[in-house]
Amino acid sequence: MTADTLQIDIQPTTKSRLQEVDFNNLVFGRNISDHMFIAEYRDGEWQDARIVPYGDLSLSPVTAALHYGQAIFEGMKAYKNEEGEVLLFRPTDNWKRMNHSAERMCMATIPEELFMSGLTELLRLDADWVPSQPGTSLYVRPYMFATDAYLGVRPSDTYYFVIFTCPVGKYYANPPKVKVETQYIRAAEGGVGAAKCAGNYAASLYPTKLAQQQGYDQLIWTDAREHTFVEESGTMNVMFVMDGKLVTPAVNDTILNGITRKSIVEIARHWGMVVEERKVDIKEVIQALKEGRLEAAFGAGTAVVVSPFAVIGYEGIDYELPAVKDDSFVARVSRYLTDIRTGKEEDIFGWTLKV
Ligand SMILES: *Cc1c(COP(=O)(O)O)cnc(C)c1O
Repeated sequence: MTADTLQIDIQPTTKSRLQEVDFNNLVFGRNISDHMFIAEYRDGEWQDARIVPYGDLSLSPVTAALHYGQAIFEGMKAYKNEEGEVLLFRPTDNWKRMNHSAERMCMATIPEELFMSGLTELLRLDADWVPSQPGTSLYVRPYMFATDAYLGVRPSDTYYFVIFTCPVGKYYANPPKVKVETQYIRAAEGGVGAAKCAGNYAASLYPTKLAQQQGYDQLIWTDAREHTFVEESGTMNVMFVMDGKLVTPAVNDTILNGITRKSIVEIARHWGMVVEERKVDIKEVIQALKEGRLEAAFGAGTAVVVSPFAVIGYEGIDYELPAVKDDSFVARVSRYLTDIRTGKEEDIFGWTLKV
C-alpha cells in the first residue's frame, strides 16, 4: 500500500440521523451511525479507502463470501470519558486478531495504518454518536468479506473491508442458565475456532436454539474429542473462580483469543491472584461447585464484559451457582475494566487510545 492509497476520501452526510435516536432506549444493532468506512482490495492492494454516508452496498449475486464463506469480523467498543473525549479499548489487538482470522480464512490481510486510520477517522466524524450515559457505548464492527463475482471455489482476489458503528445501551439480563453441550461442538482441533469467522456463528445457532427450548439461555461448549474439557460459553470466553484462583481454558486453535479474557487475566495477576490457563475438565468444575469451592463461573467478552452464570446444567442436572457478591473478584474486575475503558480509572496498562 502506498501513501496515496491510504488517503481516505471523506464524503460527509448531508442529513444526519442523530436526532432520530432515543439515547435513553438504545437497542443493540438498531441504530447505525451516520457514516461507514470502506476500503477495497484488488490488484494485490487496498485502495479507494473512503468514508461515506451509511447505506446499502451493491453486490453481485455471485459474491464469493455468500457462497463459500470467506467472511470475518471484529467487535470493539468506544466510550466517552468525562471530558467528552472518545476512547477505544486495545484496538490494535482487534487489528492483529482480524489479520489472524484473515490468514486462516485465506483472505487478504489489512495493514495496521489502514485499519487504525479508517477506525479513528470514522470515530472522529461520528463522535457525537458515542453515548455518554453510564453503561452505554458505541459498538464498532469492522469486517471483511470476499467479493469476487466468480463461482469456482478458490480464495477470492478481491475483498471489502468495512467499518460501521452503532450506539448501544446498558445490557440488562438476568445471569444466564448455561447448559454444558456434549453432542454438538463449536470447534475442533485444526479447524477455524480461533478465527472470528461468520460461519462459526451460523454453526452455533442450532445447538443454542435446542438448549433454549430446554430452558437454558446459552451453552458451554466442550472439546470435540471427548466432550470433557470446557472451551467457551456461547460467543464468549469462559472463566472460573475456584479455590481462590482464576482458572480459564488455555487459548489454542479451538478457542478464540478474547481481548476481555486476556485483560482479566492480566488484571488478576496484577492484583496478585493465582491464574491458571490450562485444560479445565467440566467434572472438576461440577465437583468444586458441589463442594462449595466454586465462587463463580462467567463468560467474558466485549459485549457484556463479564456475564456470571446462575445455573450450569450438566448431564441432565442443574447446578445453581452462588450469587455474585459486590466485593467478589467478578464484581471488582467488571467495575475496574469498565472504569479503565471509560477513563474513570487510571489506565496503568496503557490499553486505551484517544481517537
Ligand atoms: C469475539 C469472541 C469472544 C470474545 O472476544 P473479545 O475480544 O473479548 O470480545 C470470545 N469467543 C468468541 C467465539 C468470539 O467470537
